[in-house]
Amino acid sequence: MNIAIDGPAGAGKSTIARLLAKKLGFIYVDTGALYRCMALYYIRNNIDGSDAEKVAKCVDCIEVNLNYQNGAQHVFLNGEDVTDLIRTPKVSSMTSNVAVYPAVRERLLDTQRNIASENDVIMDGRDIGTNILPDAELKIYLTASIDSRADRRYKELAQKGEDVNIDDIKADIAERDERDKNRKTAPLRMAEDAVYVDSSDMSIDEVVEHIFNLAKARQ
Ligand code: C5P
Repeated sequence: MNIAIDGPAGAGKSTIARLLAKKLGFIYVDTGALYRCMALYYIRNNIDGSDAEKVAKCVDCIEVNLNYQNGAQHVFLNGEDVTDLIRTPKVSSMTSNVAVYPAVRERLLDTQRNIASENDVIMDGRDIGTNILPDAELKIYLTASIDSRADRRYKELAQKGEDVNIDDIKADIAERDERDKNRKTAPLRMAEDAVYVDSSDMSIDEVVEHIFNLAKARQ
């Protein structure tokens, strides 16, 4: 069974998907991490994210792989485990810049589809239900108001001890939403057959329970 969860930045997709995967015995695939890996390559190699030609030219130098250690997803960039290096604001920003290019998206297509064809997966991202897994048995569009998304991200980063400012986070989320929704290739949008879930006033447990029940009904 394949479950697709799409939605804007900070909607809680990864937290929810991770908990659901555990509850259902599925593999959780965080596709944002794959795009982040590619972005890290461009940053390290001083490639300008707005230079479409240069970005496209480099895709074949980049090998992105996934594996699971004690149930946790690890991502590898040309053989190096970069799981802990891809969560910085700089990488987030470069990621949404380069994720607009068809060459970058194309590079990650088979990785995503292969893992879903071989396993029961919960995959989260922006175009999973619309593009990567159009036949997923359950599709969720998970969103929340910009204020609650920014607030959650703020608490998450502050808890990690990062020096963050709520207004910067809000601006970053709004900018990424704008780019993700308005790009030409595989923009973020709700699949026609997706279930819309607004988690603004829901607890994590409530969202997990709701989607778990939907999954059980479709299994
Ligand atoms: O989900 P996460 O915040 O890690 O994603 C980082 C960025 O990667 C998004 O803002 C988006 O630009 C891109 N992305 C995408 N398609 C996906 C997953 C992520 O374009 N399936």
